[in-house]
Amino acid sequence: MENNVNISMKKELTEKQIRELIDRAMAMLQRSYIPYSHFAVGAALLAKDGRIFTGCNIENAAYSPSVCAERTAFFKAISEGATEFDAIAIVGGKDRHADSFCPPCGVCRQVMMEWCRPEEFQIITAVESGAYQIHTLAEYLPDGFGPGNLA
Ligand code: ZN
Repeated sequence: MENNVNISMKKELTEKQIRELIDRAMAMLQRSYIPYSHFAVGAALLAKDGRIFTGCNIENAAYSPSVCAERTAFFKAISEGATEFDAIAIVGGKDRHADSFCPPCGVCRQVMMEWCRPEEFQIITAVESGAYQIHTLAEYLPDGFGPGNLA
């Protein structure tokens, strides 16, 4: 099935599911630990088993140990036994205001590549006005390197 391009397992998200993911990601903006950049990011990751794992960005005085909201959500999920995912909502902005679209950084795209089918995993970015965009991981990380390259 890995090579069968005719079968897509891409989940059809309902408007209600999209709204819930965005709302959960928005709530995480208040948990972000951002004393240095003042740029908050929240994420809500939908596992195929229906669970939602949230994350916020967490900075560090030494800078490089800082972690993004998306990876916080992924690592929480993996550590709780979820390994398959349909979608993630991401919001972010200065001073905890999500007033412009916040795409995932390159490192987070690579982490998603480890766990998600690039043509099927949906990345929702949203702003406070309620507007949102949906892209697949393949659109954000075309020809990405993943576990299949080592098989
Ligand atoms: Zn990131």
